[in-house]
Amino acid sequence: MLTPLLTDKELITLMRLIQEARRIVVCGHRSPDGDALGSAIGWTLYLRSLRKTTNIVMPNPFPDFLRTVPGAGMTVLYDRQPDTAQRYIREADLIFCLDFNALSRLENMGETIARSQAKKVIIDHHLDPDTSFAALTISHPERSSTSELVFRLIDQLGGFDAMTSDAAAALYTGMMTDTGGFTYNSNDPEIYLIISRLLTKGIDKDKIYRNVFNNYTESRLRLMGYVLYERLRFLAGGRATLFTLTREDMARFNYIRGDAEGFVNLPLQVRGTRLSISLREDTETDIIRVSLRSVDDFPCNRMAAEFFNGGGHLNASGGRLPWPLEKAVRTVEQAVEAYLPLLEKSEGEYASHAAPARGNR
Ligand code: 5GP
Ligand code: MN
Repeated sequence: MLTPLLTDKELITLMRLIQEARRIVVCGHRSPDGDALGSAIGWTLYLRSLRKTTNIVMPNPFPDFLRTVPGAGMTVLYDRQPDTAQRYIREADLIFCLDFNALSRLENMGETIARSQAKKVIIDHHLDPDTSFAALTISHPERSSTSELVFRLIDQLGGFDAMTSDAAAALYTGMMTDTGGFTYNSNDPEIYLIISRLLTKGIDKDKIYRNVFNNYTESRLRLMGYVLYERLRFLAGGRATLFTLTREDMARFNYIRGDAEGFVNLPLQVRGTRLSISLREDTETDIIRVSLRSVDDFPCNRMAAEFFNGGGHLNASGGRLPWPLEKAVRTVEQAVEAYLPLLEKSEGEYASHAAPARGNR
């Protein structure tokens, strides 16, 4: 048995909101990742099984490597199909906000949703949700993924038996991607109870792994090699790393959306590295996109909030800088300098066999 996610009162509120709704929209954050997409598909297929007219609207496209997720094709993109997306949002009387904690994570689409008369429900695992716009907030930062939350909700609502293998595959994808293939934030035994139940739906988890993680282009692999060889710098005596990615680099390696996904995790493979930062020139605007990843209890989110106009989780955060790359590099150097005392905590201070404080993606 899984620990119930909702109290009886929350469960009744959620059931009533669904019952009363005629048209539902499910949305996820900008630049949807596997969890935003997987949870949205899983939840939408559940709502459709209740015969609710339900559509998925995302702010912009998801990366190419997620196109094999069953149901990915039913996503409407706000930036590509604005008329349809706006109509769905306008006509909805219930909107589910999945895998994000504030409408600002949707950029332009957030304003359209804020203006809509629909009731909103947050289902999310990011810290500090903005509850001001929601009729119900289902926020569980202690959980590894929103897809896990959606599984638990469907189960608690009695929908597991009717779950299709497509829905199971989408939810598995989200749980897998938000834990790096169950290599971080994944010590909760109940995660594996959920996986075992998803497997009873006939999903091929090994193939899902290959479809997502081993499905890149040649140019992405070469870009990775280039970045690691030419662009990676070690700071703070090897405890922190920084690499940059310019538009010119991306053009040279035929960059497509999602090609740099996961690069920022690689420097953490080096012994003694506790923090990895990447700076990437945005392809559409004049900002620098910042990604931060850490191990143990190094607080990426604090650094992101303090230096990079962002935030996120303990071990995975992001942000943006509104100035050129050279200046952004100096900002990183200052941030690393300011966090030297935390970076220099010796490894012996962490018990390698004990689970670290939880953070999530
Ligand atoms: P990524 O490096 O993959 O872009 O972002 C990693 C994580 O950091 C995301 O899953 C998200 O939780 C968080 N994040 C990224 N950008 C922002 C931001 O601008 N603000 C906040 N609060 N969190 C962010
Ligand atoms: Mn997530």
